[in-house]
Amino acid sequence: MSKIVFFCIPAHGHTNPTLGVVKELIARGHQVWYYSYSSMEEAIRAAGAVFVPCDAYDPQTDLTPEDGERVGKDLAFSTRLIVDMTLALDDAVLRDMEALEPDVIVADSMAFWGKLIARKLGVPFVSSTTTFAFNRASSQVMKGSQGAGLWPLLKALPKINRSLAKLRAKGYPVKSVLDIIANDNDTETIVYTSPAFQPCADTFSDKYHFVGPSMRPAGEPLPPSPLPTVYLSLGTVVNKRPDFYKNCLSALTGRPWRAILSVGEQVDPEALGPLPPNVSVQRRVDQMAVLAAADGFLTHCGMNSVSEALWYGVPLLLFPQTPEQAGVAARVRELGAGLLLESDTPQAIGAALDRLLGEESFRKAARALSEDLRRCGGAPEAARVIEKAARQ
Ligand code: UDP
Repeated sequence: MSKIVFFCIPAHGHTNPTLGVVKELIARGHQVWYYSYSSMEEAIRAAGAVFVPCDAYDPQTDLTPEDGERVGKDLAFSTRLIVDMTLALDDAVLRDMEALEPDVIVADSMAFWGKLIARKLGVPFVSSTTTFAFNRASSQVMKGSQGAGLWPLLKALPKINRSLAKLRAKGYPVKSVLDIIANDNDTETIVYTSPAFQPCADTFSDKYHFVGPSMRPAGEPLPPSPLPTVYLSLGTVVNKRPDFYKNCLSALTGRPWRAILSVGEQVDPEALGPLPPNVSVQRRVDQMAVLAAADGFLTHCGMNSVSEALWYGVPLLLFPQTPEQAGVAARVRELGAGLLLESDTPQAIGAALDRLLGEESFRKAARALSEDLRRCGGAPEAARVIEKAARQ
């Protein structure tokens, strides 16, 4: 039996794939502590882990909207936040870890403090990567979807170095910002996709484990319908787009489909006006149950949504909202399982959905990817990687 500690950021897309792994580890007799945020508490407890809240340590919880915009874009600013978070956690978590003596720490690739704490304490570490794995080869293929140019990085270096000096003073062995943010070929890394879907999979070391999606089970199945089912969602983060949803409703009006639109927590379904009779709008749906019945999915191309859809062989209408999502969309197009939504007018949405549902090639490619993803080991394989990495 091992003592396993997880760290994650407060995002469903980064947490969901780990929940199946947590369940699997607990079923195998291990104990799991999960350091995350109160918005994820219920799901983490339901998976069986001991939940430990980190909200109070996170400088990002009180950011001004202007500073919020800088996260992920301004490297010096982002590094300062990571360093502040790590130092805020340092006291409390280190005390916990000393008492707990974990056998392995698993951290999301963006919960950088998990990796730093593991390194400081010399505890075996596993990175949990819910996006594509990233190296020089894959970044060239995914051009434009990752990272900033060299010049902004050079300009930011003095400030970054000042932040890193604070970490070193507290005993964290970091030489450069790359030690924090980059994945390397020596770290055990779980990636929740298949080698076929990951761009340039053969350029990663054997420390990378492409375990495929870690799927949570679907709940109550949708009632059967004689009509094809279309599902639309922009995910859980960048989804405050009432005008886009209204365009979707116009596009769906009078079409021979049953349509389900998930608008997220930031949009009031009532504010979208009267609904066509073939459409239902909800803030959140059981996405696994909906995808199990879907014939087409208009998606923002979050890695989880795309993996879940392909798991069920559902072809995709691709509407990425961020550079990372554009990278996922590019890969889906390359493999033939979807088409890009070029414009968000009602006419363009309707025509693209007609094409997606009408052309057999999209469905065929999505089904081939489904078989490929189902051949990977999923949560049990991820659990095996963590067990192997743990101190014996
Ligand atoms: N999700 C859900 N119900 C919804 C919308 C989303 O269960 O109505 C889940 C979805 O199944 C996926 C996650 O939320 O696991 C979204 O993650 P993704 O990486 O697709 O996008 P993000 O929300 O991080 O942009």
